[in-house]
Amino acid sequence: MTSASTPVRTRFAPSPTGFLHLGGARTALFSWAFARHFGGTFILRVEDTDLERSTPEAVQAILDGMNWLGLTPDEGPFYQMQHMERYRAVVASMLAAGTAYHCYSSNEEVEAMRDLARSKGAKPRYDGTWRPEPGKVLPPVPADRKPVVRFKSPQDGATAWVDLVKGPISFENTELDDLVIARPDGTPTYNFCVVVDDWDMRITHVLRGDDHVNNTPRQITILRALGAPVPEYGHVPMILGPDGEKLSKRHGAVSVMEYDRDGYLPEAMINYLARLGWSHGNDELFSRAQLVEWFDPQHLSKSAAQWDPKKLNWVNAHYIKQSDDHALAQAVAPRITARGGNPAQGDLTAVVKLLKDRAETLEQLADGAMLFCGPFTPAADDLIAQHLTETARNALRDFAIQAAQTPWNREALAALIKTVLATHTLKMPQLAIPLRVVVAGTAQTPAVDAVLEILGKETVLARLANI
Ligand code: GLU
Repeated sequence: MTSASTPVRTRFAPSPTGFLHLGGARTALFSWAFARHFGGTFILRVEDTDLERSTPEAVQAILDGMNWLGLTPDEGPFYQMQHMERYRAVVASMLAAGTAYHCYSSNEEVEAMRDLARSKGAKPRYDGTWRPEPGKVLPPVPADRKPVVRFKSPQDGATAWVDLVKGPISFENTELDDLVIARPDGTPTYNFCVVVDDWDMRITHVLRGDDHVNNTPRQITILRALGAPVPEYGHVPMILGPDGEKLSKRHGAVSVMEYDRDGYLPEAMINYLARLGWSHGNDELFSRAQLVEWFDPQHLSKSAAQWDPKKLNWVNAHYIKQSDDHALAQAVAPRITARGGNPAQGDLTAVVKLLKDRAETLEQLADGAMLFCGPFTPAADDLIAQHLTETARNALRDFAIQAAQTPWNREALAALIKTVLATHTLKMPQLAIPLRVVVAGTAQTPAVDAVLEILGKETVLARLANI
């Protein structure tokens, strides 16, 4: 199929909607991985011809999402609005070549043609009134009416391709209307812009959502009429929500950047999205480099994948665990600040090292880190009453006296706790819990010796001083 002699060129061509949708991100990822796998070129093309939706913020949201995921284009971003002259020139060349024609039918007339076809049980379509044919006399051109330009679509045979995902697909050409390629004001229409750009950008492989399957025969027929090479197409099934419906806001966050905000790592997102509709044996966890090495369109799934938030959390937890402690600390620091904490209070690298094995998101990590970086809230009275019995207080006082002489590291503190337990004939929780209540203000923390070490000698002794 794809030989090393054909330089692969793929593109991601989002229309700005205000955010980068998970489905779009996955399409972008597949196109990117495909290009990287074959040593090709990945292009970003923003389809911004819908002026109402394509605000600068909506375009920026796409770029932010791509940037966060690390899907850097080799070429682009290109913007369709900057190609208007080119589209008009191609329309003009098609009119000159006779592969497109002016159509003066009014909207009402076209609607009536469609109704008529429907009433005969046929597919609603334009009836070809203005389509030039050898020997055919066209109606007189109405005064004061600007024409649209229609593509002279082939009427015989079929348009077929072997889809990289779905296998052979064929449309009868009689099903394809003479598509409007330019409006009365000369602006080109959606499918036409896609065709011209795919041609100009020498795209060899188009991977996109299967909501575009019906556009493909139209695009192929126009490419053929232009004498342009036809790329290979692969249409990826939609992502479904946990209830089997198309994934939408109802199911929770669908914008990639919401996952950034909620504390997911881009590497986890890449890994998770890749598995959503593509597989490499039973591998669930793989690096970006492995994805590129393994990515092949044969293993793109024909059936729709289901979004599974629990699995995403599991994948994210794995990447958090694997992360370098220092890098993780840097990623968590702004989240601590946002909680009113001070990331510079204590050794944040040690904090994340302690907490990262149990965190599913950076948000959870930041919550946990507030124990060390946040303002101290002493335990509530009932907690104190429950845990600080006279026995516990005696043991804590003893602990505090000896701790003042102990080297401040986890091992030494663990040894000291054991000594105090033995002296006072207590079991671990009988000391560890009161200790937590006093120094952390809560009965539950990670390993108490580690907590003490990170809180630091001065803080711990100060909090133990008043019991
Ligand atoms: N702009 C289209 C979209 O956002 C994609 C076009 C294509 O991939 O051909 O759905």
